[in-house]
Parts: sequence; C-alpha cells; structure tokens
Amino acid sequence: MEKEKGIVVPGDFLGTSEEFTPGEGVYDEKGNICASLIGGVSISDKRVIEVQPKVETPPTLKEGDVVVCRIEDLRDTVAIVSIACLKGHEEREIAASTQGVIHISNVRNGYVNDLQREFGYLDLVKAKVIDVAALRLSTEGKDLGVIKAICAKCKSNLKRKGNTLACESCKRVEVRNISEDYGKGLL
Ligand SMILES: [Zn+2]
Repeated sequence: MEKEKGIVVPGDFLGTSEEFTPGEGVYDEKGNICASLIGGVSISDKRVIEVQPKVETPPTLKEGDVVVCRIEDLRDTVAIVSIACLKGHEEREIAASTQGVIHISNVRNGYVNDLQREFGYLDLVKAKVIDVAALRLSTEGKDLGVIKAICAKCKSNLKRKGNTLACESCKRVEVRNISEDYGKGLL
C-alpha cells in the first residue's frame, strides 16, 4: 500500500505480514502491520517495512499554534499529552518528551464533568497552544479535538458515526470530543 503523504501516524495500516517483514516503528496485529509512531515509511530490498521517526530540529512552539498530540494519561481534571507535531511542520517531529496538558476547562466550549468521555488513551488530538511556558493546550473549536482513536476493546481504528465513534470489528461504540476533521489525516 503506497502512502502518498509519506507521513504515517500510530495505528495506520501499512500492509500485511505476507507482503512485508515488520521492522522498527511498526507492530504486527494479526497479520496487519501498522505504524507504532509518527514518521516516514521505508521498505528495504528484503521487504522489511519500517517507520522512521523524524529527527530534525524541532520547531519552536508559540501561542496559537495548532499541534497534534497523543493522549498519554487521563486524570480527573487534566489530560496529559505528548505533542507529536506542529501544523505546517508535519514532517518534523517535536522532541518525544514534549508533554502538554489539556485542562478540563479547556476541552470544549461548555461544562465538562468527565474527561473519560472526551478523550481515550492514545487518541490523537488536534489542539491549540494557549500557554507556551506551561504547555497548556485547548481543544475548544470545531476543528479541534480527537482526530484518530482506537477501540478500547479490540484496538481497531474507530470510525465516525454521527457524534459517536464506532468499531467495525467488535461493534463497540465510544464517545469522544470529536474534531470535525476526524479521520481525515493529520491536520
Ligand atoms: Zn473493537
């Protein structure tokens, strides 16, 4: 499967184990080889498929920047995220340790009382930087929010169905703070 974009995100299907041998940066899920990190795909002469993280100098973040981040932890009032890349600089991965937080008051325009209904572990989320020093992010806005999520039960990619996300494999339905760009790619 050719990727015209060149950049893949965790969970992207890259090919089957009949076509390729999994290398670095991928995982084999029942014969389906998927990306385990954000990066570029490379295929060797011996059909070893790898995803190579981008190691160029990370761009500097500033207030108002839109970033893609991954949910690393969900606490009562904050989601801890790792910032994966910056809009306009998708080819450059920000240093892996760059962590940010989304406070429950910055999740959406309106009251949120349960973060677990807004985000899921390892979701990819599009968010705006509202405080550079503390790396506080906001997902208020239609285009912001979850852009990619996997099923908590079977790890398949969830597909958008109206205001919910549905798993085509096990039929589980999950709720999220969904971006209008859900499923459309990175940014
Ligand atoms: Zn499922």
